[in-house]
Amino acid sequence: MKLNLTEIRKHVNDEASAYLLLEQLRWPNGPVCPHCDHGKAYFLNPANGTSRKTNRGTSSQRRVWKCAKCRKQFSVITGTVMHGTKVSIEIWLMVMVQMCSAKNGISAREIERMHGVTPETAWFMLHRLREAMKRDPLVGLLSGTVVSDETWIGGNPKNRHANQRQGVQGSTEKTPVLSLVNVETGEIRSQVLPTVNARSLRKAISEQVDMEQSILHTDAATYYLSVGQEFPKHESVNHSVGEYVRDGVSTNRAEGFFAQLKRSINGTHHHVSVEHLPRYLAEFDFRYSTCKMQDSERLQMMVNQTAGRRLSYKPLTEK
Ligand SMILES: [Zn+2]
Repeated sequence: MKLNLTEIRKHVNDEASAYLLLEQLRWPNGPVCPHCDHGKAYFLNPANGTSRKTNRGTSSQRRVWKCAKCRKQFSVITGTVMHGTKVSIEIWLMVMVQMCSAKNGISAREIERMHGVTPETAWFMLHRLREAMKRDPLVGLLSGTVVSDETWIGGNPKNRHANQRQGVQGSTEKTPVLSLVNVETGEIRSQVLPTVNARSLRKAISEQVDMEQSILHTDAATYYLSVGQEFPKHESVNHSVGEYVRDGVSTNRAEGFFAQLKRSINGTHHHVSVEHLPRYLAEFDFRYSTCKMQDSERLQMMVNQTAGRRLSYKPLTEK
């Protein structure tokens, strides 16, 4: 089945079927115990055939499994960013589909309107799912042709370009963001930088790129000169003399990404605080890096990444 909103609405008509679809996405080879990783579990049939009583005294169609090894019970949302949710799994699925496919992202306001949840719930769901879109911390280094480029998010857009060229951050509301794009695979990795200089760039690049095995493409900014020497090859284009592409060297990919990121932050989200910016970057990186995947493949990847990333309300709202 195609995994778009229409299809999901067609196949999911109650909570049990929503759980079932989520199980198919997360466990294509059958349930895996989130407590001990064991691959055999028994389905616990609800006493009355369709639903079970919850601790809150309501009835639930949650599908529950019991591990054959550790004997603990679990469901497909145990240990995921959806753990303990009061929102229906049908809504979670639809919001996941929307986040995976909306090029400019989707606002909490749209989620609130479309699914009839409170503003707080909509906001929290989106942030939990952004958590799931974060790159696996154990993933390997980028290797190949890597474009590095930086931009400033926030502040007055009129001054941004001039400031950027001069390496000036300007007012404190502007936040520098570095993106690294692997030209061959299309993978992008973005991060907030504390400041932009040769040292901060070298640190960020060395943490994400296999410098010995890669070619670095940048613009002519001087702060790339020293880190560039650590690569077998460093090529740059000089924007100040109108040079944007030369012999296949260009930073266009990163610039296209920045343009979309800014359109979304200004248009869809209106304002993103520095505190939450890393999560928005994770969302945009995820969509950009998976843009060649089928919708269903991307959704499956997102569902897989919801595991092991529980996020309680506290760390999100704590300053
Ligand atoms: Zn177990």
